Amino acid sequence: MNGFAELRRPESAKLSAIAARAETLRERYGELDGEDLLRVMLEWQHKGRIALVSSFGAEAAVLLDMVARIDPATPVIFIDSGKLFHETLSYRDILVQRLGLTDVRSIEPALFDLGGHDPDGALWQRNPNLCCYLRKVLPLERALSEFDAWITGRKRDQGGERGDLTTIEAADGRIRFNPLANWSTDKINDSFKERGLPRHPLSDEGYASIGCAPCTVPVSGDAGARDGRWQGRAKSECGIHHARWSSNSL
Ligand code: SF4
Repeated sequence: MNGFAELRRPESAKLSAIAARAETLRERYGELDGEDLLRVMLEWQHKGRIALVSSFGAEAAVLLDMVARIDPATPVIFIDSGKLFHETLSYRDILVQRLGLTDVRSIEPALFDLGGHDPDGALWQRNPNLCCYLRKVLPLERALSEFDAWITGRKRDQGGERGDLTTIEAADGRIRFNPLANWSTDKINDSFKERGLPRHPLSDEGYASIGCAPCTVPVSGDAGARDGRWQGRAKSECGIHHARWSSNSL
């Protein structure tokens, strides 16, 4: 026993069925993105069984606004790891009110998961992968248990593991939609202006991708947006988007 909950692997048959469904959805809707893709999934294909997972970070407002325009009662899951910038919490509150979102669920890590692993709150220094697992991956998995699909704001131009991103994918026994996968940073910036959306307070200070305070720094010059995350470490993702199980690994 590790002293924290281990995720249960979905049954093989379920993983295969989800992979097949993702393929079918890609054939039918692979040409759609942004609000067009969201509308089909929120109002029809996954109505009542889908949530948006949002960091309320640097670019999050565009996707939140799209979802709010379609259905402001869409469940929005926000992972409050306990290590976020206070500016992010304020920004969440501003956007919730501004966009009229009525079902934003701020989830936190469970004390019984953190247990003896992070007594001083500095696990991020000793073992950031375990810290992300306890503070983000496990809480999200529990929050997603009532949904069979979720939406993320990831984009291919963020690079790294996101370079091959598709708008519709199968991941860990659920369908995952990435409506902004094809969008550039310029297109996001234009959308902020068109929609009259406020920026995250740290955007003006050079934070291009905003996660937990101990693991995020501003970037400058030609640096990629995600270069400011876990700087100096061999880590570029927190793990919530990693496929832990796929039909290919059966
Ligand atoms: S980003 Fe850093 S502080 Fe946040 S959960 Fe991961 S390791 Fe911990």
